[in-house]
Order: sequence, then structure tokens, then C-alpha cells
Amino acid sequence: MSEKSILGTCPDCGRELSRAAVLLEWEEADGDGIFAECMDCDDVVRPVLE
Ligand SMILES: [Zn+2]
Repeated sequence: MSEKSILGTCPDCGRELSRAAVLLEWEEADGDGIFAECMDCDDVVRPVLE
């Protein structure tokens, strides 16, 4: 299996979040905003970008 599309990590549990978990993405003045679903937390989080 390939895990090349890692987006970042969950701010709550540290799990790696892949691009496939992204629910919403938008542009902000100082960067991108992203919401992704964490399977471990069963919640929507803002990934900590690597
Ligand atoms: Zn989590």
C-alpha cells in the first residue's frame, strides 16, 4: 500500500491524515484552510500541516 498522499496530522491524536480524508479546503490570506475527518477521533479536525 502507498501512503504518499499524507496531508498532515490530527491536532488531537496525532494520526496521519491523507488527502482522501479532506472534507473542505479553501484559500486564506496567509495559506490554505483545510478540514479533514479523523478516523480515530471520529470528528472533523484542522490537520497540522507538515
Ligand atoms: Zn484524531
